[in-house]
Amino acid sequence: MKDNGFLPQRQDEKFSMRTHLVGGCVEANQLRALADAAEKYGKGHVHITSRQGAEIPFVDLDDVENISEDMKNAGLFGGASGQKVRGVVSCQGNTVCNHGLINCPELAASIDELYFGTYAPKKFKIAITGCPASCMKPQENDFGIMGVVRPEWIQNNCVACGLCEKVCKTDAITIDNGQLDIDSNSCIFCGECITSCKKDAIYGAESGYTIFVGGKVGRFPRSCDKLIELADEQQLFSILEKTLAYYRKYGHKGERFGDLLDRRGFDDYKDAAL
Ligand code: SF4
Ligand code: SF4
Ligand code: SF4
Repeated sequence: MKDNGFLPQRQDEKFSMRTHLVGGCVEANQLRALADAAEKYGKGHVHITSRQGAEIPFVDLDDVENISEDMKNAGLFGGASGQKVRGVVSCQGNTVCNHGLINCPELAASIDELYFGTYAPKKFKIAITGCPASCMKPQENDFGIMGVVRPEWIQNNCVACGLCEKVCKTDAITIDNGQLDIDSNSCIFCGECITSCKKDAIYGAESGYTIFVGGKVGRFPRSCDKLIELADEQQLFSILEKTLAYYRKYGHKGERFGDLLDRRGFDDYKDAAL
């Protein structure tokens, strides 16, 4: 039952049906199918989960096959629970959001297709956020991905108006005597200075992904470790593959990834992943 997304409720023979949605995206016809199923098999409501899933609670044991068939016809399938890679969560990134630096839905779909539902010693959560605003809280996930861009100044275009200096929230930019300096230690690669400049005097010299690992909340929260900044796409997929291989090889049954990092040491993992 669980493998097909049916989670037992506290009420006897009642199940909450979890659907697998990728990055919180659901087609309009699928929403209609969910609404219809909630009225037909549940109590007329859908619960939106903390991980962008949709659950229909109060499904009778006898209705499990029928509701599964209805969902299948709408292209919806059961969500993951237990010791597995869970559905990837993401924001809309640069497909919609003004601040977005990467195409989060596309990346979420690619990762989900590779890893959703595959084995892990314990649940393994992946989040993708389009920029350092971190709306999807990648730092609270086993594997968090953030879109980033490194700015560079083009002196010849700059009129020293000071706008970029004002918009930079980390005070990484200073302008002195017409010379602009971007402090790479303070810069969080958000790209706001690039968007703000009306003279095309700052451009994105390098785009990529910052990767966080080992974050979790729950009963025993753990702060993530930052693994790498400005990784390219090939590195990102290679690191994810190696991370899961490491977790499967060394993780004890029931051990979260962050706890494994604490047990074996972050540097041991880092060597393996990079
Ligand atoms: S993380 Fe950035 S791109 Fe994603 S929704 Fe928030 S502001 Fe927009
Ligand atoms: S906003 Fe553009 S033109 Fe103005 S100081 Fe910054 S880089 Fe120069
Ligand atoms: S990318 Fe963001 S943090 Fe870095 S200098 Fe520009 S505005 Fe500041």
